[in-house]
Amino acid sequence: MDQIIIENLRVYAHHGVYREENEKGQSFYITAVMETDTRNAGTLDDLDLSTNYGEVCMFMNDFVTEHTYKLIETVAEKTAEAVLLKFPLIRRVTLEIRKPEAPIPLPFESVSVKVVRGWHRVYLSCGSNMGDRKAHLDGAVEALREDSMCHVIKCSDWIVTQPYGGVVQEDFLNGTIALDTLYTPAMLLQKLHEIEYAHDRERKIHWGPRTLDLDILLYEDCVMHTEELTIPHADMHNRYFVLKPLAQIAPYERHPVLGSSIGQMYEELVNDAGQACVKEKEGKMCDMEIENRETDDSKVTYVMENVHIERLTLEQAREIYGTYAHSDFPPEEIKPFDVIEETWGRGSYHAYGFYEGTTLCAYAFLVADVEKRLLLLDYFAVVRERRGQGYGSRALALLREGCAEWNALVIEVEDDELPDINEETRDVRKRRISFYTAAGCLMSTTRSRLWGVDYRIMAMPLMDRYALRCMADKLHAIYGNLYREDILRQHFEITAE
Ligand code: ATP
Ligand code: CA
Ligand code: CA
Repeated sequence: MDQIIIENLRVYAHHGVYREENEKGQSFYITAVMETDTRNAGTLDDLDLSTNYGEVCMFMNDFVTEHTYKLIETVAEKTAEAVLLKFPLIRRVTLEIRKPEAPIPLPFESVSVKVVRGWHRVYLSCGSNMGDRKAHLDGAVEALREDSMCHVIKCSDWIVTQPYGGVVQEDFLNGTIALDTLYTPAMLLQKLHEIEYAHDRERKIHWGPRTLDLDILLYEDCVMHTEELTIPHADMHNRYFVLKPLAQIAPYERHPVLGSSIGQMYEELVNDAGQACVKEKEGKMCDMEIENRETDDSKVTYVMENVHIERLTLEQAREIYGTYAHSDFPPEEIKPFDVIEETWGRGSYHAYGFYEGTTLCAYAFLVADVEKRLLLLDYFAVVRERRGQGYGSRALALLREGCAEWNALVIEVEDDELPDINEETRDVRKRRISFYTAAGCLMSTTRSRLWGVDYRIMAMPLMDRYALRCMADKLHAIYGNLYREDILRQHFEITAE
């Protein structure tokens, strides 16, 4: 991974065991090596896509002066954690706190403590077979989401499975969760136990009925065995109810001991099961079915650095449009909400909100083509307070996941090649295009002119190997879904080179 390095930042602070140290203070020197992907930012020369080291310095300075600890171990620990929580693009930080004026009555140059802290990718399994099973599993995800030390990345479908281990009991609802966490394995287990107990989990019969069971399957490529904890989970490779939902969210992840990928392990188990129908009668194999959900969209939740995507209802869309669209878009791009509502009624208009907790960070309104294979990004904006902090790229990445069953996302960008625009406008437009290019969009040769505004057409293939040909026809099929033919003829023009 790439590194951003800050060396010997001097901070005057009050840490120490002695009262004099706390009262008078002394200089501390901080060296931080932050691991992050700088490629996008570097390629596009765009600070929004990277971590601003000036801000990191200011942040560390404030943190270290505002808190007072006895030990520099604690200073290092807490500062590393605070930096990782504050700057979402940093995966790992090596932090050294040096104290050259430490009260030691002998000649020395300096003493220091160095820690390495970072986010760890973890996979959990969750299961319930008592009470409202879905509510227990959803509740577990919610509890993890509310913990700032965890970022829920993805959840599998919740699937119904037959009990494992021979105890006669109700069917289970099982699933898996991908998580990034700052916790150590032991701390994470502790957290999972807290969540289980909050869901009235009692440990009576091993493998018996339970409201909620949360196990750690994988913790990066860590291999460990203590009295409390075995990682990878000792029996995961034998369990349908683990491998099936794990293969859904992490087919290429590898078991660090067995060496095979989750996808392979699942295939092997299914193949063995084929020969083991007899066993099935004994109730040992698990029969799986996907539980019916109210809507397809609620199946998988996509989360990225604490931001998650939600499909909006018409009422939510109306409210967001009313609140934000007029200030986020120029008047010529605003259409009466009736037009959206009418298209929505035909199943051709969708809207998504991107939330951090319950706070709206960005929104996307999309219109489909007549065949419902393409989505045009009709409105896309980051709310004012969140701009310039990378929310746009996160939202676009989430949109890509959330709309994965569509063929492509079509985007209109204001034309940066018009001869009669000033350099400032051109620059703004070019930056916007770079933003979409970095997110995986391709530039077509098609242009359009709507209500007097000139656009170039970009597209992001969502389906593998989707050919972005005849963009002009495709665009026509989208606009045709939004406006009557006579209005189109009057106000819209599409050209392809
Ligand atoms: P199984 O581990 O076979 O799925 P279980 O989940 O029903 O069984 P529990 O009663 O929930 O078992 O847990 C017993 C103990 O297992 C926990 O208190 C924990 O200390 C220990 N344990 C060991 N490895 C793990 C792991 N990877 N994840 C969760 N708990 C683990
Ligand atoms: Ca278990
Ligand atoms: Ca368990």
